[in-house]
Amino acid sequence: MFDVTSVKADFPIFRNNPGLVFLDTGASAQKPQVVIDAMADFYARDYANIHRGVYGLSQRATTHFEEARETVQRFLNARHSREIVFVRGATEAINLIANTFGNTLKVGDEVLITEFEHHANIVPWQFLRDRIGIKLVVAPMDDTGGLDLIRFQELLGPRTRLVAVTHVSNALGSVMPVEAITKMAHHVGALVLIDGCQAAPRMPVDIQDIGCDFYVFSGHKTYGPSGIGVLWARAEILDELPPWQGGGDMILEVTFDHTTFQGAPARFEAGTPHIVGTRGLAVALDYMTKIGVDVIRDHEEKLTEYGARRLAEVRGVRLLGAGQRRLGVLSFEVDGIHPHDLGTILDQHQVAIRAGHHCAQPLMDRLGVPATARASFGIYNDESDVESLIDAIKSAQSLFRR
Ligand code: PLP
Repeated sequence: MFDVTSVKADFPIFRNNPGLVFLDTGASAQKPQVVIDAMADFYARDYANIHRGVYGLSQRATTHFEEARETVQRFLNARHSREIVFVRGATEAINLIANTFGNTLKVGDEVLITEFEHHANIVPWQFLRDRIGIKLVVAPMDDTGGLDLIRFQELLGPRTRLVAVTHVSNALGSVMPVEAITKMAHHVGALVLIDGCQAAPRMPVDIQDIGCDFYVFSGHKTYGPSGIGVLWARAEILDELPPWQGGGDMILEVTFDHTTFQGAPARFEAGTPHIVGTRGLAVALDYMTKIGVDVIRDHEEKLTEYGARRLAEVRGVRLLGAGQRRLGVLSFEVDGIHPHDLGTILDQHQVAIRAGHHCAQPLMDRLGVPATARASFGIYNDESDVESLIDAIKSAQSLFRR
């Protein structure tokens, strides 16, 4: 049985901030004590640079690092651990693909994204468009807040080389039909990149079931540390990609005339990585796995439904649609109160929400709003947090009515 109270007790932030109602996990999740301890322990007992030292300490650090890769492999159900590349986060992962796979594209080739994308899955493709002359095509949202799959299919064509879509919208919570999207994209010969930032913390991800070619997510949203993230890419593709950043650890041999490179994943991991971060990430993923990622999904799905229903009952609150399935995120507006003012007032009630464009300005334009208020859930939230949110909104409304 999933017991939120005992899960919440695993997160010291709540002990240290009594009364905190944290509804901004979509931006970054809080950390369980096991993650904090594992990272402190690593520094205290096993820390050295990896892959270089012949001494025992460095070998122990390297073992932790490579074991973390295997943990991520299991978490995503990847076939090989060498398909896992450690990066700084989802943003760096997408930039890596844009600067490696992207460089193989030609003028007029198309990258198809959606109106839901985070800036991290828009701007790297704009850079590529400006550098190489590719076309950036955008599949629209339908009127319910889901992806317009018919338009999406119509926009796929022989020039589509890559489809890059979010798995769950960070601004609305809409869950994308990534399996269907992948099938449609593969049908026209395009590769598929899925931005799993909001999905990996909330639902089981099986990249073999999805059938995609690239999957990316950030450690700090999966209850791990910031500064570490994951790019998964199908081995056959990764092996063919040229390196991106050059430096230590990614080379076989360097002369002033010529350099040869390691295979994947080392070829894509130039320089000293966030060594201890990989350990924190692995412990965080193990923590989620121990609870059960399907249990987490069920809990968050129920809580999201509950929150949507309760918000819809409050007069003057407009919940933005999220299509057929919403997970973990509620985006809303309150009549007559700017989201930033609302966020500030809610903070006085110790309710932490996000107010703004959520790094999805084109989506805000499409919705015709400059910003929204966003409550996003994590495994430590329950219905009492929704009730605190509602009470705080009502209190803000009464302030503005005066
Ligand atoms: N994609 C989505 C859907 C996100 O929610 C975020 C972060 O909010 C990102 C990408 C960027 O992640 P990061 O800042 O960890 O690289």
